[in-house]
Amino acid sequence: MKSIRDVNFKGRKVLLRVDFNVPTDDNKNITDDTRMVEALPTIKKLLSDGASIIIMAHFGRPKKGGFEPEFTLQPVAKHLEKLIARPVKFTQELLGTGVPEQMARDLKEGEVMLLDNIRFYPEETKGGEELARQLAAMGDCYINDAFGAAHREHSSTAVIARFFPNDKYFGFLMENEVSNLEKLMHNPPRPFTAIIGGSKVSSKIGILENMIDKVDNMIIIGGMRYTFTKALGGKIGNSICEDDKLDLARDLMRRMDEKGVKYYLPVDSVIGDKFSNDANTQIVPSGAVPDGWESMDCGPESCKAIRDIIMNSKTILWNGPAGVFELSTFAKGTREIATYVAEACKQGAFAAVGGGDSVAAVKQMGIADQMSYVSTGGGAMLEYLEGKDLPGIKAIKD
Ligand code: ADP
Ligand code: MG
Repeated sequence: MKSIRDVNFKGRKVLLRVDFNVPTDDNKNITDDTRMVEALPTIKKLLSDGASIIIMAHFGRPKKGGFEPEFTLQPVAKHLEKLIARPVKFTQELLGTGVPEQMARDLKEGEVMLLDNIRFYPEETKGGEELARQLAAMGDCYINDAFGAAHREHSSTAVIARFFPNDKYFGFLMENEVSNLEKLMHNPPRPFTAIIGGSKVSSKIGILENMIDKVDNMIIIGGMRYTFTKALGGKIGNSICEDDKLDLARDLMRRMDEKGVKYYLPVDSVIGDKFSNDANTQIVPSGAVPDGWESMDCGPESCKAIRDIIMNSKTILWNGPAGVFELSTFAKGTREIATYVAEACKQGAFAAVGGGDSVAAVKQMGIADQMSYVSTGGGAMLEYLEGKDLPGIKAIKD
């Protein structure tokens, strides 16, 4: 597998899969173009080589099969024109009509076209080979830069790569994601600390289990730690808890003990009497939440202890907020932890932050650029850290 860095794509017709699944408002205005901006280094490199580019992307979850105005990539095509300061050829006609096929044939050096939503084809999400073949026929090499979709074995993210056994590459964004994630998995400098939080244990079982074998310290925060606190016999009031995961929590703690992983559960909590910014609040020991109250954030004693662990770590993985950071009253724990991780990075630690909400939190705090690495892929990063082979990565590497 070669890096696109080492290849000159002059005169080539490149099929490029990107993640342009951007958030939009009710009028289809793009509200955050980060994902598009992150694909620009690859696009610019190809254009400066003198390639032509056929871009494939998905947008939302169309269900009907065929064109749906609600899910067209037209607004994305318009925005891309601004970002790359050149025209982007676009048609809402689908493959099979001959229109996009002709557009691809006519594409000249330095020209860019965007296919409309690849999920208008029902075969896409089934990994249909015929669709992959149709796509492959339009270009002469394949680059995958859609890390956010790398956990899917879809026609345009994985299956298409089969048609280019000697001409398939990661784009810069993918290459960066993969090389950073590999740092966590292969001989990370120690101590290695995972900070795992968020609302549900059930969504983090895979990452908890896989990380037990890799880390020295495990900090368990967020709503999900109340399942652990309850499993230890604590009183958690109305705090979020998955009663069917109490045994699992006990089992995870037993396995961490056996493996010598030091796990840390916050000792105090910021509790509220309702799930709202104007709730009455108090700070109580974690296992002593009164009835009628709900724990919404970790408390100051816990923050101090977590700071010590983080500052003594050489490698840090953070996924999952410490509290209900969307409500400013309960954002302090998450903000503190973000600051500690940034401090550790300044001291030379390597810290990776991932997960939709966690990334939103560090961005909201304006310190994303102080982290060694912030992943663009929520689900994809989680699955990678669960130890799974991601089809989009495998398809390029094999
Ligand atoms: P990520 O998207 O980074 O993987 P998750 O989706 O697992 O993170 O979790 C994020 C959610 O967890 C946030 O919406 C946050 O409000 C919620 N959360 C964190 N702490 C608590 C808590 N103590 N009680 C209820 N929800 C919480
Ligand atoms: Mg989330």
